[in-house]
Amino acid sequence: MLRFYNSLTRRKEEFKPKGDIVKMYSCGPTVYSYPHIGNMRAYLFMDNIRRTLKYNGYKIDGVMNITDVGHLTSDADEGEDKMLVASQRENKTPFEIAKFYTDIFMKDVKSLNIDLPEHIVPATSVIEDIIDFVKGLLEKGYAYKTSKGVYFDISKFAGYGQLGMDVNAKKAGARIEVDSEKRHPADFALWIKAPKEHIMQWNSPWGMGYPGWHIECSTIGKKYLGEYIDIHTGGVDHKTIHHENEIAQSDCLEGHKVVNFWLHLEFLQIDGGKMSKSLHNVFTLEDLENNGFSPEDFRYFYFMAHYSKQQNFTYDSLMAAKNSLKNFKTAVIEHKNGTNCLSEEDKNKYQQAFLNAINDDLNMPVALAVCQKLLKEPKSRDVYELITNFNTVLGLNLEEEQNDKIPQEIKDMAEKRWQAKKNKDFAMADGLRAEIAKQGYTINDKKDGYEIVKI
Ligand code: AMP
Ligand code: ZN
Repeated sequence: MLRFYNSLTRRKEEFKPKGDIVKMYSCGPTVYSYPHIGNMRAYLFMDNIRRTLKYNGYKIDGVMNITDVGHLTSDADEGEDKMLVASQRENKTPFEIAKFYTDIFMKDVKSLNIDLPEHIVPATSVIEDIIDFVKGLLEKGYAYKTSKGVYFDISKFAGYGQLGMDVNAKKAGARIEVDSEKRHPADFALWIKAPKEHIMQWNSPWGMGYPGWHIECSTIGKKYLGEYIDIHTGGVDHKTIHHENEIAQSDCLEGHKVVNFWLHLEFLQIDGGKMSKSLHNVFTLEDLENNGFSPEDFRYFYFMAHYSKQQNFTYDSLMAAKNSLKNFKTAVIEHKNGTNCLSEEDKNKYQQAFLNAINDDLNMPVALAVCQKLLKEPKSRDVYELITNFNTVLGLNLEEEQNDKIPQEIKDMAEKRWQAKKNKDFAMADGLRAEIAKQGYTINDKKDGYEIVKI
């Protein structure tokens, strides 16, 4: 049974899609700056869900938005559009900024082997649909116009705050002077009128302007997935403003609950605090690579903590992930040529344990522990085949390390040395070891095999 923790009901629930195909929406990046590894944790989480669904035999229709307009420096409709701030900073048009950072984002997610959604949709490509959505909310009486734009009226939606937003706290802390025409401080912008000099603006029934941030996700979800969505994902920072607002918009327009499961990822922390662009304490994948770590090391690091727990980033913990990954891959290759067998009973036991772990709300630390235990079995092709099967969820590049990086000549010498050692020809074995060392590799002997490691 596949179970996820649903932020809406605050408990783990059995997951079943409404139809044959899982409809899944993931909040995507705001493309105004280099994505950092905290953001990447959010997309590894998406990947983790997608691969787990597929492992359970489901087909997926998935969507992710790219925010290239309308995300103000505060999530709650205050400050300037992040895209405009970036375009002033870098002296480029917002469209050039969006293209530049979208390309980097795509490069990063590909280098992490992230299973991408079927549709990746920039907000600026759906402006007409957004306008229709806002019109619909106005017609149904859920929105109102002010001199600044169009706002959603939260008092019309009894379900506002389902994900835990404290609407009254928002009222107490609100900057009333900024929102003087709003009926309630928590009312939020659907459409914002733009001054003439504003670079990003479109014609609308309410004058030239641009969309509020939240409306793009509701619109893209509706356009690509329809009026029912099985799973919606995002980071916890989006839970109590962005996602409350998405629920309000979508449920009011459709007249029923649109999203069934809300799944939220906890933060990647650094020094005990959130890693975020605005705090200037971020690392990018490129920073990791400059320090000798591959994107895949970071992928493995992701598996070492449960997504619902904060995960603290340090280079030491990343080094631990790197070493575990190396040992993991070496063991897999050793099993490939193994001559032992695994009983049917054991195969089933491991298969079930792995499935139980991933189906228990994506318990990847337990899933990894199952793999580690399996890899300790006597060297067997059966183990290799099981791990290859589990790897459709892990998404690691299992064959690459050994095959691509260690030259054939070294592999041949290592094999010759292994045979010499088995034949107790230690002089020859030592000679070959020295020769291999001269070429920059060392041999670590194991109980029933060996590994070649670059010095
Ligand atoms: P943004 O580009 O700021 O809209 O963020 C893109 C995604 O990254 C969102 O789903 C955020 O919730 C998520 N995110 C941002 N910072 C972190 C972090 N430190 N750890 C995990 N996820 C994060
Ligand atoms: Zn969103």
